[in-house]
Formats: sequence, C-alpha cells, structure tokens
Amino acid sequence: MTRVYNFGAGPAILPEEILKQAQEELLNWRGTGMSIVETSVRAPSFMEMLAEAEQDLRDLLTIPEQYKVLFIAGPARAQFAMIPMNLSHDKKTADYIDTGIWSYMASEEAKRYIKVNIVASSKESKYTYIPPKKDWQLNPDAAYVYYTANETINGVEFLEDPDTGNIPLVSDMTSNLLSKPLDITKFGLIFAGAQKNIAPAGLTIVIVREDLIGHPLPSTPTVYDYKIQADNKSLYNTACSFSCYMAGLMFRWLKKQGSLDAIYIRNRRKAEKLYQAIDESDFYINHIDPQCRSLMNVPFILPDETLTPEFLKQAKLNNLTALKGHRLLGGLRASIYNAMPEEGIDQLIAFMRNFEKQYG
Ligand SMILES: *Cc1c(COP(=O)(O)O)cnc(C)c1O
Repeated sequence: MTRVYNFGAGPAILPEEILKQAQEELLNWRGTGMSIVETSVRAPSFMEMLAEAEQDLRDLLTIPEQYKVLFIAGPARAQFAMIPMNLSHDKKTADYIDTGIWSYMASEEAKRYIKVNIVASSKESKYTYIPPKKDWQLNPDAAYVYYTANETINGVEFLEDPDTGNIPLVSDMTSNLLSKPLDITKFGLIFAGAQKNIAPAGLTIVIVREDLIGHPLPSTPTVYDYKIQADNKSLYNTACSFSCYMAGLMFRWLKKQGSLDAIYIRNRRKAEKLYQAIDESDFYINHIDPQCRSLMNVPFILPDETLTPEFLKQAKLNNLTALKGHRLLGGLRASIYNAMPEEGIDQLIAFMRNFEKQYG
C-alpha cells in the first residue's frame, strides 16, 4: 500500500511516524493492557499523559506561567461563542478584523453575545490582502480585538502579529499554531482546532491569560466556562482522549524536529518553492497580496476553470490528493502543514509543470 500526499485543509496530514506509534500502542497503551480510547480520563496514566502533553506544548511555545492551557472537546467554531461569553466582562463592544471567511464567521457568531465592531475589512477585495494596522479604527474600550492569524480558506496569513497594547488580543490560530515561533505575551487568548496542524478532529486547544477568565456571562454553559475548565485541568467533562493523545505525540514529534525556529525555516522554504512555481508559470494564478500569502494554505486557480476536474484526477493518479479548493471559493488549494514533507511539495511542483506542458 502506498501512502499519498494529502494536501487537504483538515482533517489533515499527520506524520507517518506518530501514526505508526499510535498503531503499535493501540492494543496495549503504556503497559495498561488496554488502548488509550478505553482508558478512563481520571486514570493516573491518562492524567500523566495530558500533563506531559501540556508541558511539551509549553516548552515549544515558551508559554509563561500566567497562561492556562486548555484541551477543550469540540469544534474550533465553539470558540466563536465562548470568546465573547467569557471575555466580554462589563464591556459593551469587541473589535473584529475581517480578513477572510473564518474571521467573518467568528464576527457573525459573536454578535449574539456582544456588539461587534468591524474595525478593518478586506471584504471588498474578496479577501486578498490584510488592511494595514495603521488604518484599523480600534476602540479603546473594546473587550478584546479579534483576528484570524491564518485564513485557511482564503490563504491569507498575518506574517507579523499585531500589537494592541492594553486591549486583549484574541487570535484564531487553528491552521498555523506551531508552524512558527510566537511571543505568547502579546496575546490575551489563542485557540486552535486540532484537525489542521496538530491532531485528529474533536479537540480545540486554548491558551488564555489567567486574569481574563472567571467572569463569564451568566448564560455561559458550565462546560464552556474557561475558568471551570482551567480549575479542573481540562477534565471537568470527559476529555476527547484520543485527540489529546495524538496531540501529545505531535508535540513530541515537533520537539524532535528542533525548535519552532527550525520548523518555521522549513515551512517558509516549502511555501516559497510553491509560490515561486506558481508565479513563474503563465498558467497557475494566486491572487493574494505577496505581503500576506499564507505559509500553510496555498490557493490557486487554472487559467481555464473547466480544467480543474482533470487536474484533480491526474493529481490523484500521482498520489497527490485533496487539492480541491474550499467549496465556497472553488479552484485549487494545497495545504502544506508541518507534517507535509518537502518531498510532497517537490512532487506537487513537478506534477504541476507536467500538467501545464500538457494543457498550457
Ligand atoms: C477549520 C477552521 C475553523 C473551524 O473549525 P471547526 O473545528 O470545524 O469548527 C475555524 N477557524 C479556522 C481558521 C479554521 O481553519
């Protein structure tokens, strides 16, 4: 059996090494005589594993003591509501930067709980650039400023994280957490659904500054109260144990690759190669402002959109799968997360050149 290069946006490719480890350990996890998915989340072996996973994540990102790390069961999208529920406090409004489909959806959901101000938007350009920070009309009394660090669908990434001074900065890093080093102290809250760059679906990781939690809106469900989750070490409810375990294996794997600086260098090289191949051709097109092209998700289109199904068909015959663009945008998209080997990019580029020769 051949493994394919999976360019899907999520659930996404994971390192073969950790899949093999999970396979080997499945019937007898840590000498318990049973699998991880059969183990109680209150068992010392599970709690130890979760604590190790948290420590590895803290080491990778240099997370300071005053930040809580939460392993929340559920979709990243639940955070679109949990954030205003937990961080509104006595404030009336929150600021949102609208740079793509995910930030737009987050702002729509937040409207159910707080008055949302869209303080900058690139919607009129169909989300092809990031409005410069100097043009953002930030409100000094906002509860927080929300942005999406990497727009997975549109392929737009903040290559530098904004600084919002005293107003807590909230970031959706679902598709780029752990792809590069970060200064955690700039943020009030960071979250990431695991299924893009970390682990199987079902888990969302939240990193939140301790002083921001503990004053949720009264209607907040108990399981969605960050403080309750923090006080219970993410075990208030039954944790999504398999995803937590796989995330732990991923953190170990990332540590073995060296620092996040090293991972960032590799991710930059991978993305640069692919964008260069697109730019050098007269065939493939990427519409995103080069100042904010995503290192994780590379959308592109063909000069003639009726060729797209043929591209996908032939790519699949070459073991290059899931290159179809998001259903809202169409076209093509290569997601090239941490686990995508450079070899996968090289093969994709070689395939693209051949396809262009045939049809260009
Ligand atoms: C995929 C994605 C989400 C939504 O994830 P779900 O787990 O399906 O809710 C949110 N934000 C970003 C940036 C994403 O890429």
